[in-house]
Amino acid sequence: MVHRTRVIILGRQGAGKGTQCARLAARLAVPHVSTGDLFRAEAAEGTELGRQAAAYFDAGSLVPDELVLDLVVQRLDADDARAAGYLLDGFPRTLAQGQALFEVLGDWAADVAVELDVPTSVVLPRLAARRVCQDCGATSRAAPGAAEVATCERCGGTVTRRTDDTDEAIHRRLATYDQESGPLLSWFDDKGLLVRVDGVGDPDDVHHRLLDAVRSRIPDIGEV
Ligand code: ADP
Ligand code: ZN
Repeated sequence: MVHRTRVIILGRQGAGKGTQCARLAARLAVPHVSTGDLFRAEAAEGTELGRQAAAYFDAGSLVPDELVLDLVVQRLDADDARAAGYLLDGFPRTLAQGQALFEVLGDWAADVAVELDVPTSVVLPRLAARRVCQDCGATSRAAPGAAEVATCERCGGTVTRRTDDTDEAIHRRLATYDQESGPLLSWFDDKGLLVRVDGVGDPDDVHHRLLDAVRSRIPDIGEV
């Protein structure tokens, strides 16, 4: 039997979505589709799309819808997503994107939309302290007042801020989330798809809360 599980995870920047989504996707045996990761991969490869997108995300602005939609639809059309389903991380993040997703894929675009809820007061210091290894991708947390550039404890590579983790870009991204998420969340709620999960606490606890939220809408999830 072809088993398709379609999950959307929403939440503020710095809520821990990236880590939680990777873990949840592995558990549900579906591809983890992160638009942020897709754009960063395009930028690292130096593609035309990556170049265009980088101008927006470095500034902490949203990439225009037409660039995002093509990328997402193409990714969801791949064999693995067609067979198993997907866990969408970072898309949709505006009402227009949500509507476009359902127009393209139909009412089956999602079984559940989970909001991982972490308040701004918690995510702000996390984002300001977030550092990423340019070589192995490991994420770490800088101590207050620590140097901007450090050495990776795991691989010896160079650890820096993400280009969009400057103070200005962080504030712009969080303001955009607050503006755009309200209408999007109510729209999912009206469709009966929204479940809210408290994202504050031990990562293992948060993982189980997310799993329960998905189970509440998809009782026979294909867990591995
Ligand atoms: P964050 O959610 O912390 O901003 P992501 O890695 O999810 O980080 O996204 C990084 C950047 O990629 C965003 O700031 C934005 O410029 C772009 N991006 C990702 N997803 C979308 C989207 N659905 N619509 C528009 N831009 C997006
Ligand atoms: Zn490293």
